[in-house]
Amino acid sequence: MIVWLEEVDKDDVTIVGGKGANLGELIRLGVPVPEGFVVDANTFKKFVEDTGLKERIKEILSKVDVNDTRELEEASRKIREMIEETPMPKYVEEEIKKYYRELCKDCYVAIRSSATAEDLPSASFAGQQETYLNVRGEDEVVDKVKKCWSSLYTPRAIFYRVQHGFKHEDVSIAVVVQKMVNSEKSGVMFTSHPTTGEKIAIIEAVFGLGEAIVSGAVTPDHYEYDRINRKIVKIDVAQKKFMLTRRDGKTVKIDLGEEGKNRVLSDEEIERLVEFGEIIEEHYGNPQDVEWAIENGKIYIVQSRPVTTIREIERMEVEGEIIVKGLGASPGIGVGSVKVVLSSEEIGKVKDGDVLVTIMTTPDMVPAMRKVSAIVTDEGGLTCHAAIVSRELGIPAVVGTGNATKILRDGMMVTVDGEKGFVYRGELKERKVGERVVSLAPQIVTATEVKVNISIPDVAEKVARETNADGVGLFRIEHMVLGLKKHPMKYIKDGEVDIYIEELYKGMKKVVEAFYPKPVWIRTLDAPTDEFRHMEGGGDEPIESNPMLGFRGIRRDLKEVEHFRAEMKAIKRLIDEGYTNVGIMLPLVSRVDEVLKAKRIAEEEGIPIGKIDFGIMIETPASALIIEDIIRECGITFVSFGTNDLTQYTLAVDRNNENVAYLYDESHPAVLRLIENVINVCRKYGVKTSICGQAGSDPKFAEILVRLGIDSISANPDAVHRIREVVARIEKRMILEKVREL
Ligand code: PEP
Ligand code: MG
Repeated sequence: MIVWLEEVDKDDVTIVGGKGANLGELIRLGVPVPEGFVVDANTFKKFVEDTGLKERIKEILSKVDVNDTRELEEASRKIREMIEETPMPKYVEEEIKKYYRELCKDCYVAIRSSATAEDLPSASFAGQQETYLNVRGEDEVVDKVKKCWSSLYTPRAIFYRVQHGFKHEDVSIAVVVQKMVNSEKSGVMFTSHPTTGEKIAIIEAVFGLGEAIVSGAVTPDHYEYDRINRKIVKIDVAQKKFMLTRRDGKTVKIDLGEEGKNRVLSDEEIERLVEFGEIIEEHYGNPQDVEWAIENGKIYIVQSRPVTTIREIERMEVEGEIIVKGLGASPGIGVGSVKVVLSSEEIGKVKDGDVLVTIMTTPDMVPAMRKVSAIVTDEGGLTCHAAIVSRELGIPAVVGTGNATKILRDGMMVTVDGEKGFVYRGELKERKVGERVVSLAPQIVTATEVKVNISIPDVAEKVARETNADGVGLFRIEHMVLGLKKHPMKYIKDGEVDIYIEELYKGMKKVVEAFYPKPVWIRTLDAPTDEFRHMEGGGDEPIESNPMLGFRGIRRDLKEVEHFRAEMKAIKRLIDEGYTNVGIMLPLVSRVDEVLKAKRIAEEEGIPIGKIDFGIMIETPASALIIEDIIRECGITFVSFGTNDLTQYTLAVDRNNENVAYLYDESHPAVLRLIENVINVCRKYGVKTSICGQAGSDPKFAEILVRLGIDSISANPDAVHRIREVVARIEKRMILEKVREL
């Protein structure tokens, strides 16, 4: 029922879960791990059997529709309450208390869930169940063990099991109870060099608890140990401002003052740590990223996992009957029940985990788009609203199917492959078809900057964190503006320009702040009449037979100057607040005087043009051909290729017209020649070049651009890691080629 950690090893996953088994394995190797015990999975099983809970849980789960969020939450709440309120059999409770007493007298412990699936030791339930830190006292320990048990039935865990075809009754849960270490020193260690793989161990150390390093709040000492020649080769002692320590179950901060200059680890401590690291690396066969702590002079290994310099992304595939085909617009596989939404009034019927099927998404659908498992549209190409938003939200999407809203019916279960662009009948199991390796930490540094495109301010922070991009090469404000209550010009006509400016400012600030101090190029509004007509107060939009060639981009803002001034006022507020990382980018430029006029107005509004990035998009052949004049006369600091428009205008192929979509080709020699010309001219004048069109997210196109000498590439959030990797490889290859030529 209960076992000490040292009594288990890696073969015991089905009884003590993955976490318990790994800790036991480390102890077997002679590595010191904080002491503890495991309440095994059979104990939980017996508990639910003996108390009759098993049948009641089964009964509740048999009725729940996991796609109905409310129902799922209600079922979860009921089950968890039942588990937490049912007393443990006395003998189990006594046993747990006995082990706790033997472990220590009223010490603090960490209580961690360790879920298991019968016959499936590899199933990953990591992170789905609860962990409780700083627990003290027999009754508290018993209580938290039960809370861990009940966390087997969080909505997320139930949903996961249903989605992956696990029977609830085959899954059980063990609970690890482990002494908390209140360390006087702690840190991390890479057992080998994380990028080169050389046998050099790298150790970072601080005084007190390790959280100080993880959060980045304290600069740690840095030591390197050469494992071949058996000696310390580097000692960098940092000034450590404070330390964290635990008092009465709470983490407190203590200023270190002069003591912060002291070296944390002695030579002997470094050597002993490395020895443990070597044992673990040897055992697992690959370099490890180890967390360690020292309490009362004794070293503990708190955690060990393989070094994540490289992250493997699994590519999944499904097989089955394809019922709808379109363009794969956002990669990933989503399964769910179809909800066809023909107008935004019907969006309320979409529930968590559904597959949203619609003609084309609109900004008022974004809240619903966040919770679906996939998106399928009739219309659109790779740069339509649905494609851009779903990539930013990380939700699989298929666009431009032509007929999804006619073929798919409410309630049908489907599986959507957002990479291939297929919708399959039924709920299909994914099959792993290979792995893609993406570099994670430490990030590769590329000479060509890799930036990211943003359209939804609310996701900027997440995107900044996950991509670690070198800035924002395009912040499209249309999506934000389309999401407002009324048409921008209506605000102005109603005398509410201040409300509009406030909205712009708030949205822009989220992005500028998320990336600060990295540059964020805000593109002024590019409002095609056909898209803005649907907004409240958009009735005055002129009807145009060719909106793509019509009243949009900078030409529009220069006619509706009050609008342009409003944008400048919002940006000015940011600059005044110290966000000097903003840049201004003008869309759809085709004449020198457009840039001059825009610049003059910006200056009239108080924008310090000479102090910030000010540039244009290259979206028309005209701008590409007269780039030298623009640079000479307007003093821009950068250009960015909008290949989506540049391609359509160069080839006379409407990007929204499916009849000519087969002719749409960003790599057409004419487009490439325009790009090359612009890059060459810009280099001559020291003007930065970038790309923010969809082609920037295409690895093959990225290669061409790097070879042409572009300064930065701005990709969609989902493509940043891949593009960074491709850019790094090409840069290296170019250096090699140069060397070989010599
Ligand atoms: C482009 O034209 O390539 C571009 C990035 O702008 P948009 O797609 O918003 O027109
Ligand atoms: Mg464009």
